[in-house]
Amino acid sequence: MRQVVVLGSTGSIGISTLSVLAAHPQDYQVLALTAASQVDKLLAQCLAVNPRYAALLDATAAKALAQALKQAGSKTEVLSGIDGLCQLAAHPEADIVMAAIVGSAGLLPTLAAVEQGKTVLLANKEALVMSGELFINKVKQHGATLLPIDSEHNAIFQCLPSGLQQHTHDQQLADFGISKILLTGSGGPFLTKPLCEFASITPAQAIAHPNWRMGQKISVDSATMMNKGLEFIEARWLFNCQPADIEVVIHPQSIIHSMVQYTDGSVLAQLGQADMRTPIAHALAFPKRMASPVAPLNFKQMRDFTFSEPSPERYPNLYLAMAACAQGQGATTALNAGNEIAVQAFLDGQLSFTDIARLNQRCLEQFSGFRVSTLDDIVALDAEARQYARSLLRKGL
Ligand code: NAD
Ligand code: MG
Repeated sequence: MRQVVVLGSTGSIGISTLSVLAAHPQDYQVLALTAASQVDKLLAQCLAVNPRYAALLDATAAKALAQALKQAGSKTEVLSGIDGLCQLAAHPEADIVMAAIVGSAGLLPTLAAVEQGKTVLLANKEALVMSGELFINKVKQHGATLLPIDSEHNAIFQCLPSGLQQHTHDQQLADFGISKILLTGSGGPFLTKPLCEFASITPAQAIAHPNWRMGQKISVDSATMMNKGLEFIEARWLFNCQPADIEVVIHPQSIIHSMVQYTDGSVLAQLGQADMRTPIAHALAFPKRMASPVAPLNFKQMRDFTFSEPSPERYPNLYLAMAACAQGQGATTALNAGNEIAVQAFLDGQLSFTDIARLNQRCLEQFSGFRVSTLDDIVALDAEARQYARSLLRKGL
């Protein structure tokens, strides 16, 4: 029985994780579930899977959860605050930690799991975008196992030779005959929308992704392709490569989840349904395989299989993230922080769709030269960039 902690259990990835775990009750036990403040959702999950612990970031919500659990006769112990989340991520009995909190809020709990040498299933890409080198150094220092959940990175991982899978953080791709990582993306809901209509795109239109059902933040990021930009930075760190080794390819059908090109001309791809339960099952079972509730692909029903290049006019956020990746850690931390503020402002109706990129560009310009090396530097820059982004929102861009 492997003990699993699910950070961000009430979200899209958290729910998919519980769905995979429910199919394998003999192999996995849920040790802890955590969320931000959703009492009712976490209560229902606790009553369904009966974890030893639950935690909510919000202390008042945690009190309400503890009371409701007690009334229902549950023995689940409730913790709260960032300390409670970190404590569960680092719990001595936890074997696997699913890092599925959205945004920079996931950084400290995810690092807490890494520092205890856990097997960390990383969905929370923003944590790696913010802290790249420091994160990977901690993985090496503490002997943690880092397995990608993001479908593209999980696909790339599956296409690597097994000798490299065990040592992705300190080997060179070229030494294994790899010439390029081909990061695919659907292009989101606005792949063919006339550019002149972009300024009036509404939040409801932006979160309606053609292929994937996801949380709101990543759905907006997919529409702007900032998501692919964050994934570009994520790939740079996960696979110990340089920006020049990664190419973004638009593949609107989301059947291929990414590819690895070898020097002999071979290209290996991982294909599957647009359902996160496949990469989740892969990472939970690695290095073995186990069944997931995902239907197999039906090639007889597949009509189109197309590819194109992302245009900078349509997807300026992708190119900002690629530029930040080349500039360094200060740039990626600041861009990620600015983008979190911009996306929330867009969802709240305070910023137009096209102004997301303008705000992000201002943040990148303001902080691109910043050097960060310690966790304190990163947390401080994240806070400063957020403050700057909020001041731009107040003053106007
Ligand atoms: P979501 O918004 O559906 O869920 C987020 C979860 O994090 C919730 O449980 C929420 O309670 C918790 N949370 C939010 N803010 C928090 C805070 N401040 N402190 C503690 N917990 C907090 O998001 P999601 O779509 O499940 O995405 C989660 C992560 O996985 C993101 O980083 C996203 O980029 C990544 N990811 C998601 C998908 C997907 O299909 N949804 C695919 C690839 C990667
Ligand atoms: Mg992805």
